[in-house]
Amino acid sequence: MNLNKLLRSNINGMTPYSSARDEYKDLEADMVFLDANENPFDNSLNRYPDPQQTALKKLISAQKKVPTDQILLGNGSDEVLDLIFRAFCEPNQDRILTFPPTYGMYDVLANLNAIKNIQVPLTSDFNLDVDRILKQVQPETKLLCICSPNNPSGNVVDRKAVERLLKAFNGLVIIDEAYIDFSNEVSWTAYLNMYPNLIVTQTLSKAYGLAGIRLGICYASKDIIAVLNNIKPPYNINTLTQNAAIEALQNREVVTEQIALILKERAHLTTAFESYSFIEKIYPSDANFILIKVDDAHKRYTELIKNGIVVRNRSAQFGCENGLRITVGTPSENAQLLTLLNTLK
Ligand SMILES: *Cc1c(COP(=O)(O)O)cnc(C)c1O
Repeated sequence: MNLNKLLRSNINGMTPYSSARDEYKDLEADMVFLDANENPFDNSLNRYPDPQQTALKKLISAQKKVPTDQILLGNGSDEVLDLIFRAFCEPNQDRILTFPPTYGMYDVLANLNAIKNIQVPLTSDFNLDVDRILKQVQPETKLLCICSPNNPSGNVVDRKAVERLLKAFNGLVIIDEAYIDFSNEVSWTAYLNMYPNLIVTQTLSKAYGLAGIRLGICYASKDIIAVLNNIKPPYNINTLTQNAAIEALQNREVVTEQIALILKERAHLTTAFESYSFIEKIYPSDANFILIKVDDAHKRYTELIKNGIVVRNRSAQFGCENGLRITVGTPSENAQLLTLLNTLK
């Protein structure tokens, strides 16, 4: 794989915006800062945020065992994915491959960037159909977007299949691990040095309970991260977000306990679902949601809504006919759901 050849032509050799805080970084030093036209009166937010999020990246690096120069942070994983698409795909020319049923943002971002999205369905057990995928690869195919654990099916995809793709495909392979903290599988971040074309994304939006702060994490080779760093908006992670993320990562026990409880509730719901005749199938989940197949998704969705419970109807997605995706809630929310299901016929 030749990274420079994969790059979009106008990105190759682009000069990044150099912010005041890039030129003089040491905010801790006792200096008078008259360089960025900020309001000088301290209210704890009057200064621009650290464009490189040094303190936060150090923490992530220590916890995830990935060097800081292989980490890029974004305003949610959505920004991270958008940066990758924009860096490597020429509009109106290049293509990506996605594997439905899967996360809807890949298609939205492809459309937004005028990139053709070729969809190669997962198999009936929601695994990658490697032979069929490789047949779809063309010179214009720059990226594969793999979601594992997959949204909305909940399963992790087979490792051997991913390995085959990493080895056979000459472009970049994104593995979206938004739900990895709910799974026993090891993260693909452990294999970054083995595969120069591997990009792993994670987020604080799910397990870490911080969807509101918008923090996405991208792990890749130093070279890929350097490219993304060059094109990212200079102050993409605001100070409030950096501080909240640091606090959460320093208090990981809270999140660890919550994850354990969510997993216990996931098992409880899975067992309980088996007793309803209108639930025809319960798909195994490595995430904090469960995909079920019901007799009539529209009917059941509407009954739940009328009684104050919102789930996600995934019927329109490939391979998810009559599928409802149900997020694991608090114990009392889950009990409420089961009580309601008991009343349905
Ligand atoms: C929820 C989710 C995300 C999270 O995106 P953020 O922008 O970080 O909130 C990413 N990928 C998948 C598959 C998701 O389901």
